[in-house]
Amino acid sequence: MITTYTRKVVPPINMLFSRKYRHENTVIDIGGIQIGGERVVIMAGPCSVESRQQIIEIAQAVKKVKASMLRGGAFKARSSPYSFQGLGEQGLHFLAEARTATGLPIVTEVMSPSQVPLVAAYADILQVGARNMQNFPLLCSLGGIRKPVLLKRGMGNTLEELLLAAEYILSAGNHQVILCERGIRTYESATRNTLDINAIPVLKEMTHLPVIVDPSHAIGKAQFVTAIARSAIAAGADGLLVEVHTHPAKALSDGEQSLSPSMFATLMLEVERIAGALQRHI
Ligand code: PEP
Ligand code: MN
Repeated sequence: MITTYTRKVVPPINMLFSRKYRHENTVIDIGGIQIGGERVVIMAGPCSVESRQQIIEIAQAVKKVKASMLRGGAFKARSSPYSFQGLGEQGLHFLAEARTATGLPIVTEVMSPSQVPLVAAYADILQVGARNMQNFPLLCSLGGIRKPVLLKRGMGNTLEELLLAAEYILSAGNHQVILCERGIRTYESATRNTLDINAIPVLKEMTHLPVIVDPSHAIGKAQFVTAIARSAIAAGADGLLVEVHTHPAKALSDGEQSLSPSMFATLMLEVERIAGALQRHI
């Protein structure tokens, strides 16, 4: 089946993402957890859902130290077709079980328009991965749902391109978009990506949408994640998306950048103190 989209081709005078269109911050409420307000929202969990036991164990570990949401990929956008691709629908089931066990809302990735109804039936927030930031049919489909979308910045995209991608979702009718800086490609090869710390205050001026940071993909090495997570909160991010695994060395994806529960506990304590200095809380 070929889906056609009818879109308004006349742009609004002010883009819907802009502060000129809406001056006040957009605050997105997920079961009482507000993103974009005073609270700094910490979403944590494994890169991929690997089993029922794995996701429930990690959900309990991150909840214990006050994370507010659980992340985990069921559909994975891997660079290599031979890498673990995720558990698919079964992974969504396991995430839902982890939500029931802990009460944590779930954030999970959607990769194509055809997956949107399925993922929306399980997720509290639907994540668009960096590699799909300009998957325009996907953005249009997400404009048609009534659940928040976490839109990650492409590794080679400008802030303007990120905001225009958000505009696709907003202009199709979904006003709940959260932007995520997750590191960009630079000439530096000592780290996986380079966190564009500038993106945080600059986006905050350009848009009313909440801005969060993924320090895990931004730096790619667990021992440095906490330092840049602190910097993100100090720069004004509304939250973090952090990879945590109970057995990082055995993770099926991104083990190198995954925090152990004890490293994550330290991150939470330090981030809470920085948030407090800015009259925010976790
Ligand atoms: C992820 O969140 O696990 C992920 C694949 O991130 P990104 O799309 O930013 O690479
Ligand atoms: Mn990952």
